[in-house]
Amino acid sequence: CFVTFEGTDGSGKTTQIKMLYEFLQEKGYVVLLTREPGGTSISDSIRELLLDPKNSKMKPETEVLLYAASRAQHVREKIIPALAQGKIVLCDRFVDASIAYQGYGLELPLDEIVNINRFATGGLQPDLTYFLDLPSEVSRERLEKRFSVYEGPDRIESKPAEYHEKVKQGFAAICREYEERIVKIDAARDIESIQEEIRGHFLNYLAN
Ligand code: C5P
Ligand code: MG
Repeated sequence: CFVTFEGTDGSGKTTQIKMLYEFLQEKGYVVLLTREPGGTSISDSIRELLLDPKNSKMKPETEVLLYAASRAQHVREKIIPALAQGKIVLCDRFVDASIAYQGYGLELPLDEIVNINRFATGGLQPDLTYFLDLPSEVSRERLEKRFSVYEGPDRIESKPAEYHEKVKQGFAAICREYEERIVKIDAARDIESIQEEIRGHFLNYLAN
């Protein structure tokens, strides 16, 4: 079973996916927790290229292909083998992020992004996606707090608010288009309530 988490930067998906991972492991499930861009050493090298603020000259087409290249490696080296072993795969971001960030955000043609990613993934699609939904201002506030405490923004996070607003609108459109696969979660609540909803939903999903 292949499950992805999506959301804007600062929506809390990394925290939630980790909590779900630990919960499922305690319950005895065999689970792979992984993330994009990244998940393999080749994909992690591509991640560095993508997120390094020094690479401010990167063209949108280059960006889209690098995300897809990172994903192609990740799918074949890690995700498909884990699924073949019957594991539950929890992946922090997948193709939806490319449609939202590179499609809607950078205004690249959506059909091209879909095609490139169909090639990259060999057609693999998530069975289920949790979308952590948060108003843009709240994402922004959370991010700024993170930057002041931990580390500066990466190349994508430091793009202007208008870019992130387009990404947010993109995710809203994706949620409408793939409503049979995507579960929208109100991410403006406290961490525990959000996790409780996800756990409840996922256990129910596994039982059916
Ligand atoms: O999910 P995470 O925050 O680790 O993603 C790392 C960075 O990559 C973020 O700044 C995110 O916005 C960006 N990203 C992107 N396009 C994707 C996936 C991630 O711009 N397709
Ligand atoms: Mg982030």
